[in-house]
Amino acid sequence: MNILICNVGSTSLKYQLFDMDAGEKVLCAGGAERVGAEKSLFYHRNNLTGDAVNQEAIFPSHREAICAMLEQLLCGCIESLSEISCVGFKVVHAKGVTGVQYLTEEVLRAMADFNSVAPAHNPPYIAAIRQFKNLMPDTPMIGSFETAFHANMPPEAYLYSIPLELSKEHAIRRYGFHGASLEYLSTWTAEKMERKDLKLVCCHLGGSGSLCAVKNGISIDTTMGMGLQCGVLQNNRIGDMDPYIIFHLVEECGMSLSEVKTMLQTKSGLYGLSGGVSNDLRDIQEAADAGNEDCRNAVKAYAYGIKKYIGAYTAAMGGVDAIVFGGGIGRNSSSVRQAALEGLECLGVKLDNQKNVSATGGSEISSADSAVRIYVVDTNEEIIVARKAQALLNQS
Ligand code: ADP
Repeated sequence: MNILICNVGSTSLKYQLFDMDAGEKVLCAGGAERVGAEKSLFYHRNNLTGDAVNQEAIFPSHREAICAMLEQLLCGCIESLSEISCVGFKVVHAKGVTGVQYLTEEVLRAMADFNSVAPAHNPPYIAAIRQFKNLMPDTPMIGSFETAFHANMPPEAYLYSIPLELSKEHAIRRYGFHGASLEYLSTWTAEKMERKDLKLVCCHLGGSGSLCAVKNGISIDTTMGMGLQCGVLQNNRIGDMDPYIIFHLVEECGMSLSEVKTMLQTKSGLYGLSGGVSNDLRDIQEAADAGNEDCRNAVKAYAYGIKKYIGAYTAAMGGVDAIVFGGGIGRNSSSVRQAALEGLECLGVKLDNQKNVSATGGSEISSADSAVRIYVVDTNEEIIVARKAQALLNQS
């Protein structure tokens, strides 16, 4: 069974074609960047032949990028599109819908109902899924919602203390995101430790990031909320903030509501704190090392947020067996890991500094006498989505 997994960003498309029956082998992978700009970039690698493409392209919309992808798939990976059993998407959010679902018009409408809380994710996904449906009308489209991993959070973790009738009427609650990555990190750790009865703090730290308290394999709390704008600060998104700052900016500081919304979504987080130096931690770290005080504080604030939630989730679970890092920052930034874990010896967390600096995916970086294991993991969201899509297809 071949399953095509697609990851849609507002200006990007990434894909992997899995042969599930051949040990989940990735037959080919590729993507498009700067979709919608004057010049886009297209790349593709066929793992069967070793052939690779890396070229400029003109992709005014996702439709052209999808066509380029299909052309490449038919060029040495598969002979006909009918060999693709389904296209799977790591979809983000929908009102009243979660889990793994066929992407019917009804599900797409439920996604559109939450455009306001997932503005960077839902609109491009909905548009791209419609284009996929037009171009591949005979292929099932399946979505694995990022919220699903958190579906069993207890009420004390998901309730917001606004009037109950408002929460009920408008489906306002903490949902949580990054489900595919958090599921991968937690199952990887359970296999590694050969135990299921574990208390884990899983840290998915990428361009956007969230932490999750996973007890016995179930998410019992997570840092993201109704939308993706809270918790630890993100590349250019806000993270936790007193909501009354919004009213202050609108009522006293002359900003419009839509300006505030754009600011919170695109000019905050690491980008905002660094004074606009970058939204990429690598650049900010470099500027911090060169003496930029704002960048130094941005990195400190980022790591401090992670440390606070590790402490909170240890309290929520009544202890912690392992802390697991994944995502571009979690996997690659030894300095963020070190700063986030510094001072947590009181919880039994002892980092081995040498192992931390030389860590690669799958490394354990805790010292031998640490009561809490610490791991760095290469997360794999695509395989989680592919497995869920396969399970849904097998049910029907
Ligand atoms: P996304 O969340 O967009 O899917 P990733 O999980 O790949 O992306 O994470 C991207 C982020 O990882 C970048 O914004 C960059 O800040 C960070 N990153 C990647 N490599 C490093 C590194 N060596 N050191 C610090 N940060 C890194």
